[in-house]
This record gives sequence, C-alpha cells and structure tokens, in this order.
Amino acid sequence: MGKLAVGVAVGVAVATCAVAGVVVGRRLRSRRKWRRVVGVLRELEESCETPVGRLKQVVDAMAVEMHAGLASEGGSKLKMLLTFVDRLPTGSEIGTYYALDLGGTNFRVLRVQLGGTRSSILSKDVKRQRIPQHLMTSTSEDLFDFITSKLKQFVEQEETVSEAAQSRTRELGFTFSFPVKQISIRSGFLIRWTKGFAIEDMIGCEIIERLQAALMKKGLDMCATVLVNDTVGILALGHYYDADTVAAVKIGTGTNACYMERADAIIKCQGLLTSSGAMVVNMEWGNFWSSHLPRTTYDIEMDMESPNPNDQGFEKMISGMYLGDIFRRVLLRMCKESDVFGPVSSKLLIPFVLEMPLMAAMHEDDTPDLKVVAAILREKLEIQDVPLKARRLVVKVCDVVTRRAARLAAAGIVGILKKIGRDGTGGITGSRSRSDAKMRRTVVAVEGSLYTSYMMFREYLHEALNEILGEDVAQHVVLRTTEDGSCVGAALLAALHSSSSSSSEGLHRRR
Ligand code: ADP
Ligand code: MG
Repeated sequence: MGKLAVGVAVGVAVATCAVAGVVVGRRLRSRRKWRRVVGVLRELEESCETPVGRLKQVVDAMAVEMHAGLASEGGSKLKMLLTFVDRLPTGSEIGTYYALDLGGTNFRVLRVQLGGTRSSILSKDVKRQRIPQHLMTSTSEDLFDFITSKLKQFVEQEETVSEAAQSRTRELGFTFSFPVKQISIRSGFLIRWTKGFAIEDMIGCEIIERLQAALMKKGLDMCATVLVNDTVGILALGHYYDADTVAAVKIGTGTNACYMERADAIIKCQGLLTSSGAMVVNMEWGNFWSSHLPRTTYDIEMDMESPNPNDQGFEKMISGMYLGDIFRRVLLRMCKESDVFGPVSSKLLIPFVLEMPLMAAMHEDDTPDLKVVAAILREKLEIQDVPLKARRLVVKVCDVVTRRAARLAAAGIVGILKKIGRDGTGGITGSRSRSDAKMRRTVVAVEGSLYTSYMMFREYLHEALNEILGEDVAQHVVLRTTEDGSCVGAALLAALHSSSSSSSEGLHRRR
C-alpha cells in the first residue's frame, strides 16, 4: 500500500511538473512571440527616425533640388513648373467671379462676390460634384461636356434675373491640378494625367482651348482668364488675407507646394519678364527625393508595387493616400511574425484597405481601453479580440508613421523658406549668422485634411518646425489654414487678371 501511495504521489508530481512545463513553455513561446512583434516595432522606429540633424539635411536637399529644378528643364526630380502668376490678390479685387476646380475624384464649381476692400468676400457659393468614374477614362469631349453642363446648371441657379441680363462676359478661373506645361497664365498643355485619370486624346493638348470650346457649345458666355494648379489657388487666397504669405502647401490625398520666386532666380527661363519681378513656381514637391529621407522596407515595397515606381517618393511618405498602406504593411508583418493578433486576416492582404481617417482615429483614440482601435481592427480589418497591450502597439505604429510624415513635411516647408532666405540663416548661400532681428514675418498657407483634420499630424509638424528653425526664428513663421483656396484662389486670380484689369497681359517672354 505504502509503495502504491508513493507511486501515485510520484505520478501526480510528474504530471504536475509536465503541466507546469507546458504552461511555462507556452508562456516562454508567447513571450518570444511578443518580443518578435515588439522587434518589428523597434525596427520601424529606428528606420523612421527623424532627429533634427537629419531633418536639416532634408531641408538642405530640398533647397538644393529647388535650385537645380530652376536651373534647367529636367535638372531635378522637382519640376519647378512656371505658373506665369506674377502678382497675387491684394484684397482690392471687386466683382463677381467663377471658378472650376478639377483635380481629383471631386470637382467643384464656385462663385464669389468680392467686396473690394481687404479680405472681403461678400458671398461664396460652392458646389461639389463627383466625377463619374467612366468619364475619367473617356474622351476629353465627354469630360468637358460634363463639367461645363454642371457649370451651366450652377450659373443658372445662382444668378438673379438682373445679373443674367447683364451683358458682361462672366470670368472664370480654372484650377486644373495635373502636371501642366504653361506658356502663359491662361494657357497650358497637359503633360500627363495622374490620380486615376487616363484620357489619351487630351495629353499634349491646350487645356483652356478645350474648356472654351465646351463653354461655347453650351452657349455659356464665360471666359476662362486663368489656368492654375490647386496650390497656386491656396497661395492666392492666403495672400488675399495676409500680404506676408509667400508659399502654400497642400497635404491631402497627395501633397504639393508652390511659392513666390524671384524671376531672375528662374534660370531655365532667362529673358522672362514679369511686371513684379517675381513668379509663383509650382514645385510638384511630391516628387522630391533625397538619400537623406528615412526609408523603410515597407516604403520600398509599396513603391515597387505602385503604378508609378520611383516617382512621387516624398508624397508616398507624407500624404493621405499612402500612410494607411504603410501602416497595413507593418501590421501584416507583425501578424506574420506572431499570433498576437490571431491568424493573419485576409483583409490585411488588400492594398489600401485602411483609409487615412481610420488610421488617424486609431492614433487619436483616447478611450482608456482603446475601444476605437478594437472596433476598427475588428470591423475594417477583421482582426478580432486583440489584447489591450497589442492595441497599444497598433497606436504606436500609427504614431511612428504619422510623426515621420509630419516632420518631413515640416522639413520641406523649411526647405522653401531657406531657398527664399526666410529661414533665419541668410538663405542657401548666405552666411549662417542667425539673427532674429533680420527675420521678416513669413506666412505659409496650408490646406489638406491631414493638416486641418488630424491634430496629431499638425502638432508633430509644428513641433518639427520649431526644432529645425529654433524658437527665435519659428516665432516669425506662421502657418495659416485657408479654406477652399484651390477654387476661391482661382476666382481671385481671375479677378486680378480680368480682361477689364489693365495689366493682365503684362507677362511675356523676351525671347
Ligand atoms: P484632396 O483629395 O483634394 O487632397 P483633402 O485635403 O480633403 O482633399 O484630403 C483628402 C485626404 O485626407 C484623403 O487621403 C483622406 O483619407 C484624408 N483625410 C480625410 N479626413 C481625415 C482625417 N480626419 N484625418 C486624417 N486624414 C484624413
Ligand atoms: Mg483637391
């Protein structure tokens, strides 16, 4: 009996040890898996690092590339396109003007009444419309028929009978946010389509002619006075409100910037005469590239799988179209490395499945147990029952991706300031004597949902601006949000360059 009892006791002890062994083994394995996911995060953090020294290298690279792009056609990945906008609205514009804004999935028609004293927009009516998908790949005639018919409906709705009876030709600013080779403020040729548009018969064609023909066909007495890019509109509106505005930046689906440059600095266009001695340059900065940009394997893979590999490198690290996909790639890697998130969800294999606003919502989830993160993972990505500590990791990934984007955008802005000698260092060739006394108030107009609707993005951007410029200089730099600048600004430029205004034809080439 005694032997039997001992035998049972030994058996129980062995079994207990085995169970404990299994438990310990499981814990060890799970700890190892956890360490692997944390490793993925650490690696991401390291490869996304943007210490101020690195940001300053990006600033310098941006200023140098701007120089190169201004020196010769094709001299840089920055196209530095001429806009022929040599003056910006001052606030004295008066009258009723229209604008048509075509640049993505939506297009907008607008009418503004300008009061003629600084910053007095008496009324503003905007109508947004979605461009039907089939028209994005149809013919230019179909596309222009569509937009001008919507414009005609809008004009008929908005105008009073007495306005309609006036004999004055209505004037229109056309915002066309695709790469365009302009030859004057009212004439330009389409270089290529972007953003899903593919209308072959339009490439290389003069844009205003097409628009004007369509207007005529509709019997609409309207004259397109200016052809501009959306950032140029934003700059125009910014300057209308504040004469210290020197540049404009858009951070939305894509990203771009423009600024006012001295005409004599635009070397590729020697002989260019402007009445003001300056011209707005559309940088197309989304295509900026520098070896100083902190690039990860996720960026490289996303670029390789994109329809435009090796292009829009800066945009792919910064703008709303791409950040969600960088996040998706990181999460997918974490899921493959470990089962902390359960089995790999098939949703995670779908490119661009996570839109920017959802990523921002996870990042800014301030519920104590990260309910929003849990809901988005569950509903959008079909990842169920993620433990709290793993949800914290998800927030951290959003943070790393967004912080890098915002800080790089800040470096881009300082690059522009440096190019025009407004960064407090005396410009690209100047001495580095930093004097805050010399620094003039400098305003940059900013639009785009990442900046306007994503608080963490905006805060990180401001923080980086302060770090790069230093507090003394940064206090003179104001980022100002404008609204509907792409179309309101185009209408303002139409007013400024109106056929009734005397110097509308002032800008020409000497040779
Ligand atoms: P555009 O398409 O002309 O660039 P927007 O400035 O509205 O227009 O930018 C749209 C981009 O911003 C999209 O990528 C969209 O997903 C993103 N976005 C919209 N709302 C938010 C938000 N609250 N937080 C972060 N990103 C947002
Ligand atoms: Mg737009």
